[in-house]
Amino acid sequence: MTKRSNFDKLRADLHKLNLDQARQLYAELGAIVQALEQQSRTSEPGGTKGREVVEVQHLGDRLYQLERIRCGKVGCKCAGENGELHGPYWYAYWRDNGKLKSRYVGKQLRQID
Ligand SMILES: [Zn+2]
Repeated sequence: MTKRSNFDKLRADLHKLNLDQARQLYAELGAIVQALEQQSRTSEPGGTKGREVVEVQHLGDRLYQLERIRCGKVGCKCAGENGELHGPYWYAYWRDNGKLKSRYVGKQLRQID
């Protein structure tokens, strides 16, 4: 199966979501987008603006951080100085050829490949 058809299948499945599931996914997608944007910059984990690190764990050769995040969408509950942050969600951080990589893990901590 190609990446493309997996993506199409995922999109088709999105139409089967109920309202609560769709809302949850919407919030989680905000977190995923932020993680990917962060990844495309060269920032270090921890103490990043708009993020609050709740817990840190080392599993294998990766660092896992439980973080509450600000998605950056205008008008979102997380916006502003006293906004309610999303999450917390787990993110994995590791170095690959000296480059810092990160990946969204989810609400439950689990070891990723
Ligand atoms: Zn938000």
